[in-house]
Amino acid sequence: MDQIGLRLAALHQHTPVLMAAYDGHDRLRYANAAFRAAFFLSPADAPTWAEIMRRNHGEKRGTVIRATDFEAWLVSTQARRGKTAFRAFETDLHDGRWLWMTETVQPDGWMLCIASDITTMRADERAVRQDRDFAIRAAQTDTLTGIANRRFMTERMEDVVRASSVAGRSAGCICVMDLDHFKVVNDRFGHMAGDAVLKDFAVRVLPMMRRGDSFGRVGGEEFVLVMPGTGPQEAALVAERMLATIRHSRPLPERPDFTYAFSAGITAALPDDTVISLYARADRALYAAKLHGRGRIFRDDDPVLLTQVG
Ligand code: GH3
Ligand code: MG
Ligand code: MG
Repeated sequence: MDQIGLRLAALHQHTPVLMAAYDGHDRLRYANAAFRAAFFLSPADAPTWAEIMRRNHGEKRGTVIRATDFEAWLVSTQARRGKTAFRAFETDLHDGRWLWMTETVQPDGWMLCIASDITTMRADERAVRQDRDFAIRAAQTDTLTGIANRRFMTERMEDVVRASSVAGRSAGCICVMDLDHFKVVNDRFGHMAGDAVLKDFAVRVLPMMRRGDSFGRVGGEEFVLVMPGTGPQEAALVAERMLATIRHSRPLPERPDFTYAFSAGITAALPDDTVISLYARADRALYAAKLHGRGRIFRDDDPVLLTQVG
């Protein structure tokens, strides 16, 4: 390291500002002394963000989490964490400190977190600001599954359409997923069982996507995955892995033989797309997947689709 590099490293350890970097799998890869102290991490400890939250929540230290259901809070926070290039918000710690946290995300998912102590600033307006953050969270979350909702996913699709237009070439893919024969699940086992299957689908897919990807529920049993910087071939592999996982799931404990699957349509965003044209292509591929027997992933550039459905 050169002189400036050494000096910066020393300053990082000296500053009361919390600094950390997470990789694309949300694992802590760097944290300065202030960050490690605030979240009770030993020097070589490199847990994932979810592990940090879980451990500290159990010990009633670290971040104050006001939700009554911790697991639901984790799902809804992870569904929105690291999905935009920059985010800033307030958060408080069990030790009484109030932090202004910023998250800067690179296209490959690495994230820089910097938090400053704002305990003494504008305490009177804190409740208003926190209510605003709760309202934003609620407006972006699907109430049944806790993952992102249609509004949030539409914004992510707008991001990839805009990036494609700016770059003059595709900047990513979307994958529209629809559960197969879902009406039968409701008809045979009841609406509660149907809801349990939807929740099972959400919690199984969520940990399988990369951090830069977004996943949300956009309709009854329709979900969408937005994959920036990903081509259709790679997107199809991701979706196939998810399908294999879902096929092994047994979401109804009282019906241990019950299994389910989904069909999916994949398309790459093009420079001239709108969210509507993008979604329409993916939907056409999804429709073809249904026609060809369900439980499969189709790309809109699949030869079978070009010749038989177009
Ligand atoms: P396909 O394989 O063609 O997709 O068949 P499908 O039965 O899944 O499709 P269809 O669109 O006919 O039925 C979707 C069903 O999803 C109808 C509706 O009762 C159910 N559904 C929609 N939203 C919810 C929900 O929030 N909870 C439950 N339990 N069911 C829902
Ligand atoms: Mg369906
Ligand atoms: Mg449907």
